[in-house]
Amino acid sequence: MSLGVKLAPYAASDEASRGRQYREPPPSYRSQFQRDRDRIVHCAAFRRLEYKTQVFVNHEGDLFRTRLTHSIEVAQIGRSVARAMNLNEDLTEAIALAHDLGHTPFGHSGQDALNACMREFGGFEHNLQSLRVVDLLEEKYAGFPGLNLTFETREGILKHCSLKNAAELGELGRRFIERKQPSLEAQVANVADEIAYNNHDVDDGLRSGLITMEQLGDIGLFGEQYAQVCSSHPGLTERVQVHEIVRRMINRLVVDLIDNSALLLKEAAATSIDDVRSAAKPLIANSETVRKQSLELKQFLRDQLYAHYRVRRMTLKAHKVIESLFGAFMDDVRLLPPQYQKKIGGAQGVVDGSARARIVADYIAGMTDRYAIQEHQRLFDPGALT
Ligand code: MG
Repeated sequence: MSLGVKLAPYAASDEASRGRQYREPPPSYRSQFQRDRDRIVHCAAFRRLEYKTQVFVNHEGDLFRTRLTHSIEVAQIGRSVARAMNLNEDLTEAIALAHDLGHTPFGHSGQDALNACMREFGGFEHNLQSLRVVDLLEEKYAGFPGLNLTFETREGILKHCSLKNAAELGELGRRFIERKQPSLEAQVANVADEIAYNNHDVDDGLRSGLITMEQLGDIGLFGEQYAQVCSSHPGLTERVQVHEIVRRMINRLVVDLIDNSALLLKEAAATSIDDVRSAAKPLIANSETVRKQSLELKQFLRDQLYAHYRVRRMTLKAHKVIESLFGAFMDDVRLLPPQYQKKIGGAQGVVDGSARARIVADYIAGMTDRYAIQEHQRLFDPGALT
């Protein structure tokens, strides 16, 4: 059921959906993708996003983005694009809200650390983990494991995937092997993710003082909007100035994305979601000029913000916390909470090494920043005996 909106012929729809893994009666007053969105919003992994780091750890300040506010911003941008292009807004929103559910505590440094711990056990990849969360790890429904989401939402969540993992994923992994594209809604959520983090990291970076307006003035995308804001609104406070620049940057990227993608769709003459999937390249993309500008900004953030010594110190700590938790649980599974011990097969650990490592990784990946820090204290701080 698609409520009230005339979708483009190449949009995802309930009618063209490949359905759910476990059959269910259709929802009464919602579309299938609204149901997916609602299940995501009600799941525990979604609530944990509030206390997971985007770039700055939660306790550094109340104003910085967390994974939760990041996901909401991705959904906002994605929905605007989807609606303007007559794509399926509900599906775009569901993918955006779920895309980071598998993220570890401590942002990318946490993911890198857990991936290093899991090297001999098949690695750790947050995209794949997001899928694991919605397919398997959420335990809430009587009739099935996970959230039993539609194929299209799961396809959108799995943004990247190694060929080795793709081979194990069956139908969902096939597009990586056959080099096909996901739905346009998945493509929109993917670009919206990039637009959101580039822009909010500029905002958070400036707020933290780790990067400055002077540095950013040399970056094309920022510089253009900075010049405009200064000439049309001289004398603004820096905070308002930053917001005016960031909102203009987002607008520039989003308008360009909609216009350029409309051109690409026209060129490809797509008339169904299958045409979209078989296209040689993604049909949702910024123009060449704007893509280059985004890359320049991304590179700047990589060099100046993510590699800043204060961020790197946090990275080091995150590595230590995750490595020591992983090592302790692998050495003695009896340190794990009972429900995880049970999955491993009791204190003796009847499952083999990599299955055990995967369960330990699930436990660690599910932790919020503060829970991981507390767990580390409980295990290693002699002063914390309770
Ligand atoms: Mg993201």
